[in-house]
Amino acid sequence: MSVCLPSSGITIRPGIDLCQSDLPLDWYQPEFRSYAEEYLALPDRKPETVLPWLDRYVKPAVSHFGDSLLLMAHYYMGGEIVKLVERYGGSIGDSYSLALLGERSPRASIIVQSAVHFMAEAVAILAQPHQEVWITNPKAGCTMEMMAKEDAVAPIIDQLSERYGDEFVVVAYMNTSGRIKAMAGRSGGATCTSSNAALVLDWARKRSERVLFVPDRRLGENAADRIGISPDRVAILPGIGQAESLADDWRRIDRAELLLWGAYCGVHSVFRPEHVRYWHDRGWTVLVHPESSLEVVRAADGCGSTSYLWGAVMGAEPGSRFAIGTEGHFVRNLREQAALHEIRVEHLAAVDEPGLLRVAGCGCATMSRNDPPHLAGVLDLLRRGTPPDINRVLPGDVVNESTAARDRLDTEERTELVRHARAAMRRMIEIVEGGSPCSSDGVWQ
Ligand code: SF4
Repeated sequence: MSVCLPSSGITIRPGIDLCQSDLPLDWYQPEFRSYAEEYLALPDRKPETVLPWLDRYVKPAVSHFGDSLLLMAHYYMGGEIVKLVERYGGSIGDSYSLALLGERSPRASIIVQSAVHFMAEAVAILAQPHQEVWITNPKAGCTMEMMAKEDAVAPIIDQLSERYGDEFVVVAYMNTSGRIKAMAGRSGGATCTSSNAALVLDWARKRSERVLFVPDRRLGENAADRIGISPDRVAILPGIGQAESLADDWRRIDRAELLLWGAYCGVHSVFRPEHVRYWHDRGWTVLVHPESSLEVVRAADGCGSTSYLWGAVMGAEPGSRFAIGTEGHFVRNLREQAALHEIRVEHLAAVDEPGLLRVAGCGCATMSRNDPPHLAGVLDLLRRGTPPDINRVLPGDVVNESTAARDRLDTEERTELVRHARAAMRRMIEIVEGGSPCSSDGVWQ
């Protein structure tokens, strides 16, 4: 294997549960059905059962490709994948660290990503010419990204550009397609992640009178609050994909400094300030992800990216107690690992109080579409030289999340897209790596 991120410290012990929800057999592409049939026929989902089965496919591929193979998974992946990817020499990280890992691993020519599609596409945008990027399941899309597709966002950007000219710039959260990232690049703007949104937004407002932040309204509100943009200088754009014309809104938009696209993450929208109060009443520390609402972030004790949340808990003293407001698989993995250090972890919405919404373990369902049969299948098919083309990720691809069909750009269009999307990502990297220490490590408070 090539360069790796620091280990998460996750350990696989006999008897621990490796299970995530099994997918129905007809959800698998034809090329993956035989792997899925074998997996679904296993008697349980314990390491003693799953690991020997996976080893049959993954170990030959790891040995065949050697240093030219780089496995990656996002922290939100279902329990087994984050445990297994590291077991086979791969890396787990947040979207920012994974995006950089590919291009900084020049020996890797085959990069296999277990995460949602925009994360694999971000790796592909920064990839070197000899590097191929593959996703274990192309149907794994991010619902927030789906709320800001090119055909909805482009007409709005055109109108804003026409009205404000050079005094308008786009900041695109990492949870966007390459096509939206390219729009940010073309506008002179940048991409951002949950760990650096405030830093990038602060940069953007200093260079332009008006900023469009796309797609996550909540991250945009939290970043604005952090850098002191007054709420009366923020405008939420109407509808998601329905506002073809801004003609009725110019008076409101003209007064705003920050324009927010109206998308959000359903997984992080369940949290309420009452959940924070519930855990505070019991003496627990509350840490949340900035895709949560502004009210929740203000009530919490700390806020930051997945890397921050993981590090804050794993670095705490034995006996500490944390309620964590983010994706359920992540919290489950963190709970297991923290327990080894005598640290208690609960999901923020795992409450037991009449009238208070209980959503224990709300996970990212689309991320979980990358399961062990997909990991085994894609690696085995790559080794055999017969990987399905729809698992190959090229910048600018538009994927149908129901069928996995891909609409690809031609080479010239793709080269142009990569140029602009890379410009946006490089600006983020420059801002972050030259940025203030309090904002570059994922910590908000
Ligand atoms: S948790 Fe939410 S924002 Fe993250 S990948 Fe899943 S749907 Fe997208």
